[in-house]
Amino acid sequence: MSLRNEIELARQQAREEITSCADDKDIESARVKFLGRKGVIASLMKQIPSLPPDEKREIGLLLNALKEEIASHFAERSSQLEKEAAQARQAAEQIDITLPGRKPLHGKKHIITQTLEEIIDILAYHGFTVEYGPELETDYYNFGALNFPQDHPARDMQDTFYITDTLLLRTHTSPTQIHTMEKRQPPIRVCMPGKCFRNEAINARSYILFHQIEGLYVDEGVTFGDLKSTLYAFLSSYFGREVSLRFRPSYFPFTEPSAEVDVSCFLCSGKGCSVCKNSGWLELLGAGMVHPNVFKAVGYDPEKYTGFAWGMGIERLIMQKYGIDDIRLFFENDLRFLEQF
Ligand SMILES: [Zn+2]
Repeated sequence: MSLRNEIELARQQAREEITSCADDKDIESARVKFLGRKGVIASLMKQIPSLPPDEKREIGLLLNALKEEIASHFAERSSQLEKEAAQARQAAEQIDITLPGRKPLHGKKHIITQTLEEIIDILAYHGFTVEYGPELETDYYNFGALNFPQDHPARDMQDTFYITDTLLLRTHTSPTQIHTMEKRQPPIRVCMPGKCFRNEAINARSYILFHQIEGLYVDEGVTFGDLKSTLYAFLSSYFGREVSLRFRPSYFPFTEPSAEVDVSCFLCSGKGCSVCKNSGWLELLGAGMVHPNVFKAVGYDPEKYTGFAWGMGIERLIMQKYGIDDIRLFFENDLRFLEQF
């Protein structure tokens, strides 16, 4: 092949390869291939000394022109690639204002906390302040001072988590009644929320942990009628409408007389539905007049003072209200459950 043809071939080859360069790396290797010290142009230049004198100058001019031409191809391709990259960057950064916004994630209070706070707010309106007591209790505060007989089944290891012979996880919030009365004199009007623990088999209906709130009112001349009117006002506020109450005789060691209190179903107003199992009533709380022995334990004169107390389970209340059929859901921290409230 004549040198002129080789130059022409190199020109075409260079144009094709430079045009197909996709990035800086391609450009650099093409540059080495054509313009490098051992590149295509350099090897063509090396042939000049062996040419006849009349062709030396002409071929020299041709090769110099080709060198410049290839250099300008490189410059053109480089700036083209730069422009394309800039366009791609711009497209990626562009904000699509038609896309929906990202929903901010924020935590909220557990349904048990929400319910307790709601109840505390209502009771505050009726004059009750809040008292908290320890979750680790002595046998005396959890049972003895509350008039539990020594052989009461609730003291059994089956129901109570004993830490030592005398220390235990409280099985109800009632010990806080004792703490409160020990440090204050009547009149007392307090509510006592908190965690309680029972050594029970875990299933859909029972769990080892649950929450209670209790109310206690002690003064001269407090009657069972006061208990009824207080519960009526409190529960009507909580359920957002007038409720009916039903008192069934019951037994608790720390109250006498004692009653289980049912409230008319908030869903069917007593007509009967699936929430109240067609009875029209919901079992809601236990209540009664404070037993004289409890007053004696805290140094109050049972001839002078009377009082009432009631206690209710928070989980059961929420389960009835929202139709939840498994108590374990409250403690599993599954966001699909928690986010519904
Ligand atoms: Zn009902």
